[in-house]
Amino acid sequence: MIVEALTRHGWDSRVAKQFEAIATDGQQPGRVLIEHRGSYVVATEAGDISASVSGRFRHEAAAAEEFPAVGDWVVMSESHEKTAIIHAVLPRSSQFVRSGRGDMPGAQVVAANVDLVLLVTGLDHDFNLRRLERYVTLAWSSGAEPVIVLNKADLCEDVAERVAEVNGIAPGVPVRVLSARDGVGIDSLRPLLEEGKTVALIGSSGVGKSTIVNALLGWERQQIGEVRESDQRGRHTTTVRELMVTDSGALLIDNPGMRSVGMWDADEGMADAFADVDAFAVECRFSDCAHEGEPGCAVLAAIADGRLPLARLESQRKLGRESAAQVRRQDAALRATERKRWKTIHKSVRNHMRIKYGPDAR
Ligand code: GDP
Ligand code: ZN
Repeated sequence: MIVEALTRHGWDSRVAKQFEAIATDGQQPGRVLIEHRGSYVVATEAGDISASVSGRFRHEAAAAEEFPAVGDWVVMSESHEKTAIIHAVLPRSSQFVRSGRGDMPGAQVVAANVDLVLLVTGLDHDFNLRRLERYVTLAWSSGAEPVIVLNKADLCEDVAERVAEVNGIAPGVPVRVLSARDGVGIDSLRPLLEEGKTVALIGSSGVGKSTIVNALLGWERQQIGEVRESDQRGRHTTTVRELMVTDSGALLIDNPGMRSVGMWDADEGMADAFADVDAFAVECRFSDCAHEGEPGCAVLAAIADGRLPLARLESQRKLGRESAAQVRRQDAALRATERKRWKTIHKSVRNHMRIKYGPDAR
């Protein structure tokens, strides 16, 4: 198979193998560039095309995260004109989620197969260590590698102090300082944009993500990157392409859906995000120490003599509780759909028996 356009979008042997394992004759691979209310724009060998999931896919999906997201590799077949049907989503190497679709359990994936995530925050009044700590935990749990980008350095008088604070809450995470509006520091990001790597930007609205993306691309996406897309009623809406190819061959995702960090299941990210706290915790006398005053608690000792800020332990507790609550909610939602499925199956079996053996059949 010739995959020039796909290679430009990050296609590699890992994805090729996954595709070949499940695709049937005549099916095509593609990468999702835009998701807009359940319809998609997908990059394929034949160019960018509109697509939607098959009826069977919709019917069989048990959780929101099974639906395609920006960055996903999908298996498609052609239908009429330039619209394609998505039959399957290939396994993801990483995923970012936000709260679910409402009609379905599970979280909604807003970006998939991200290698590197730039956590963008402003060094102005927007600067907030606790929120950044959340983003870092979220990034670690996604499966992508985090890099912290402190933008708007021109509005900050003590950059070095801020950087030290950030290092304190994100041990081992690289930090870059920029003033994107003036192009200062942008070049420090370029080595991260490796060919075939997918890089996503996350951060609250207004921190400068679009400014950074435009500076990295060297063109104004709003003018050049627009893709026309038809919605369900046949109207044409204009949507900004959310996955872009840089000159160096990296794939850049700036997804508006990733701006919120409300809901998440960060269990897997906790260990990486709080490696500094855990490094002391392994020294506690009791292996199940809750660091609440037990004898021989190395964490409280480290806090007492200033080696560990108390805020870090508090954040670990708070985020750990939130994540656990989220996991419980998800589990409950999944059990509820399972129950509904079984009820439907039981009912149809019962109906079948009644038709066959009369009203008293059980
Ligand atoms: P986004 O919502 O994260 O995409 O943020 P934008 O890129 O739209 O930027 C929000 C505002 O911040 C715009 O008015 C930008 O001009 C401004 N901005 C972006 N980068 C900088 C910077 O480095 N310094 C200053 N002072 N303003 C910036
Ligand atoms: Zn302890």
